[in-house]
Amino acid sequence: MSTVPLYSSQNLKIYNSLTGEKETFTPITEGNIGMYVCGPTVYSNVHLGNCRTFISFDLIFRYLKHLDYKVRYVRNITDAGHLENDEDAGEDKISKKARVEQLEPMEVVQRYTLDFHNILNKFNNIPPSIEPTATGHIVEQIEIIKTIIDNGFAYISNGSVYFDVQKFNETNDYGKLSGRNLEDMIANTRELSSQSDKKNPQDFALWKKADPQHIMRWPSPWSDGFPGWHLECTVMSTKYLGETFDIHGGGMDLKFPHHECEIAQGEAACGKTPVNYWMHANMLTLNGKKMSKSTGNIISPAEIFSGDNSILSKAYAPSVARFFMLQANYRSILDFSNDALEASEKGFYKLMEAIKVLDSITTGSSTTGFDVPKWRQECYDAMNDDFNSPILIAKLFDAVRFINNSRDTKGAITKEDLDLLSSTMRSFVFDVLGLVNTNTEASENNDKLSGAVELLIKLRTEARINKDFAMSDQIRDELAAIGIQLKDGREGTSFSLNN
Ligand code: AMP
Ligand code: ZN
Repeated sequence: MSTVPLYSSQNLKIYNSLTGEKETFTPITEGNIGMYVCGPTVYSNVHLGNCRTFISFDLIFRYLKHLDYKVRYVRNITDAGHLENDEDAGEDKISKKARVEQLEPMEVVQRYTLDFHNILNKFNNIPPSIEPTATGHIVEQIEIIKTIIDNGFAYISNGSVYFDVQKFNETNDYGKLSGRNLEDMIANTRELSSQSDKKNPQDFALWKKADPQHIMRWPSPWSDGFPGWHLECTVMSTKYLGETFDIHGGGMDLKFPHHECEIAQGEAACGKTPVNYWMHANMLTLNGKKMSKSTGNIISPAEIFSGDNSILSKAYAPSVARFFMLQANYRSILDFSNDALEASEKGFYKLMEAIKVLDSITTGSSTTGFDVPKWRQECYDAMNDDFNSPILIAKLFDAVRFINNSRDTKGAITKEDLDLLSSTMRSFVFDVLGLVNTNTEASENNDKLSGAVELLIKLRTEARINKDFAMSDQIRDELAAIGIQLKDGREGTSFSLNN
């Protein structure tokens, strides 16, 4: 095996939301990547829109690993501090759910964390390297707030602590990620209400004093309260990846204010910018509108797998839905529809069929009409161009056409080229795109089952030869009890399954 890592021969470019440009990717430490992606707020079941963002970053994680980078992928679980409407006022989303359903907040968290893991597992997402929770990092959040106060960028007001955006903007640039400027923001905001603890409407909470009825609360130097939502990501990313790390991702809707605030907090606490490459995944829409829990404009993964939704004509396998999402670039908006999913299903099975055909191609002395090494590099070029999965898939379909022709025209490819074609197809389809060949999986399991039953038939035949009828009957009866019927005939014993 070659010891030269693949990344050294590939020129990966990443679209950096901070600069608005595709940049050559250079990690801080050669061969190693730190990547942080904002995880879910676990107060409800994930919808297909959420899944799209996590599948987009799974593709990115998979390709970085495929290039032989050692990736530490941190994705948090927001289990406290995320208030309604992403504001600094209102109820905590998890507390509210706990109150409405009469559950402990941690029961809510557990229920929806399990759902999240279960669904992402079905989509064949690889779990992150670390999955920290906000409630597990309260101590670190209090520490970083103290540092930001000491550095002069936050103030205490009535038991809460707020980030002083105007003060920060005197020396730094608040708005650089989202392309806003503070003067415009000030001009476009309403006056603060007289009850507000903030100096300015742009300021955001680092720590909130809890109302008496607020269930989730922790002691701090300022009040019994809870940390701000933006702060948890600053704390958990820098704790596990360092004060400046390589990649930070999330959905496009998190750019402002969440990520803008993360930059401000990181710079205010550490004096350096926290992230080198900001990546934002675009939204899944339904009827042209963002899928969103709050508006109810959603379709759930469970409905896709069961077909149980009036807009669906049938059930779809998780890999079909995953393939549908990967047929769009992660930076483009993707509109969901049954027709589009049906078209993806056809494409998906065509791809799987071609992979099966690869095993039955007869090789010849030369390859005609398809330059395999060139095609392979084009597959890499597609992914090196900011993870352009639709272009990669188009390249894979160039190969599908050639494979199908080669089945009919025997000897159209050399053994060497077939091996390269086969390994490249498999690694892009299964390792990088993360698709699962459901048909193949089922047939492989059937092969294993047949092997095991054949072995038992052999043992039973031996038992009969040795006149151990108790044993031979036991094998037959116990197999029958689990639905496998043995039939003795002139050609020997065969079996059938009662389904
Ligand atoms: P939340 O649990 O609301 O914080 O969302 C979890 C992730 O899903 C965030 O990265 C959001 O940006 C992302 N997200 C929410 N709605 C959509 C959507 N319609 N399409 C794609 N991503 C979404
Ligand atoms: Zn976050």
